[in-house]
Amino acid sequence: MNHKAGFVNIIGNPNVGKSTLMNVLVGEKLSIITSKSQTTRHRILGIVNGGDFQIVYSDTPGVVKPAYKLQESMLNFSKSALSDADILIYVTDIYEKVDKNSDFLQMVKESQVPVLLIINKVDESNEEDLDHLVDFWHESFPKAEIIPASALMKFNTSNIFNKIIELLPESEAFYPKDALTDKTERFFVQEIIREKILKFYKKEIPYSVEIEVEEFKESDKIIRIKAIIYVERNSQKGIIIGHKGVAIKKVGVESRKDLERFFDKQVHLELFVKVKKNWRNTDDDLKHFGY
Ligand code: GDP
Ligand code: MG
Repeated sequence: MNHKAGFVNIIGNPNVGKSTLMNVLVGEKLSIITSKSQTTRHRILGIVNGGDFQIVYSDTPGVVKPAYKLQESMLNFSKSALSDADILIYVTDIYEKVDKNSDFLQMVKESQVPVLLIINKVDESNEEDLDHLVDFWHESFPKAEIIPASALMKFNTSNIFNKIIELLPESEAFYPKDALTDKTERFFVQEIIREKILKFYKKEIPYSVEIEVEEFKESDKIIRIKAIIYVERNSQKGIIIGHKGVAIKKVGVESRKDLERFFDKQVHLELFVKVKKNWRNTDDDLKHFGY
């Protein structure tokens, strides 16, 4: 058989399980996952290589109506995923109101490439409700292949993989056959720390934070990392640090554990907090942070 390769872009509304699904399909935790919406801010590639195939997955931020410039850029990552896909994976779940974001769904329906429509989180559904939902999607999106699944329980995910292989076009590989992602080690450090911020802080704090790795020094035995946690206001700096530094200490400890798992090496992590006023609405700052 000839070599197959292509771009499989994972899209959908926030919180339906796109990142969880991509991590299962790639077999590595590349995308951070939390119960909060808008956890994913960039388009992240996850590459799966086989002897005669290469699948290049993209995880994208959920589709949101932009309220600030950062979200405009996030929406553009999602829209760009519509235009350069060989296969689209549209993820919905058993809870989603189906009229939510009909504009974006309409764009997906008009796409020329095959669409796999994943109804995720079936582990929390029952047969009757699921049957209704499958019928609904068959009617509303007849061109799509409907696959009920649970990314969390890895239910039906191997069928998704088989379907992708079947649909993948014949092509040479796009990336070296040992590549796993297009992102740098620093990027994953930033994401791992940001995940802890999303987990441990409330309200607008996680959405006002960006992480920057200032130093990443790897030797045989240990990786030494210095990272800055940027916030938008002075008051947020105090919240991040917490009473007697307890809060930031927890971020440091939990991040270090995950970093050591990710790199399979001892990690020394130093965190600093700085204020960058209004960075989410400042073009230069957004550009600097890669949006
Ligand atoms: P994204 O915003 O679409 O990338 O969604 P995430 O992958 O970050 O997941 C959002 C939330 O849904 C997290 O709390 C996940 O643990 C949860 N989740 C993802 N897949 C499943 C699933 O198959 N079943 C259940 N019950 N929860 C899931
Ligand atoms: Mg995500």
